[in-house]
Amino acid sequence: MCEVPGKPFFLQEGKYKGHAVETLIFHNPAVVIGLSKNGSKELSRHIDSLFKVGENLSTLPFCFCGEHRVKNFTIKDGLICYDLMSCDQTNCVDELIQKIGHGGIYPIKLSTLNLFRNDVKQQEKVGVFLKNILGLSRNASPEMILSKITGGHSVNLV
Ligand SMILES: [Zn+2]
Repeated sequence: MCEVPGKPFFLQEGKYKGHAVETLIFHNPAVVIGLSKNGSKELSRHIDSLFKVGENLSTLPFCFCGEHRVKNFTIKDGLICYDLMSCDQTNCVDELIQKIGHGGIYPIKLSTLNLFRNDVKQQEKVGVFLKNILGLSRNASPEMILSKITGGHSVNLV
């Protein structure tokens, strides 16, 4: 049972003063990952708990099996393939591996953003992809983003 953030965290200082971590995590992931290491204790805790609940995201699209929602996405030649995703069932993942060929398969989790830390542009593309796959619009409020990330979890205010 992990701690679930109860409300968005708005930055109090720096270049992104007034921005919510919840919004930045998709549009400027590198900033949030940096703050998780160099921010205040409270901010680090908030970001850590976001990443923890973000290990289990409720996505909108269904896998091609038609039974489960997607849990994996693919990148081929640097492009995110919106039409090549799968759930976590072994059969479906195997089929995805066949279809993607030399491309890569990644889990649909917030922590996947960490895998792209050496390519900020790609990391931001993955961030926007994750936001889209959760059904969040470009202008979604931090509160709405937080409720999507935390899904059906009961909220303990932190
Ligand atoms: Zn499936």
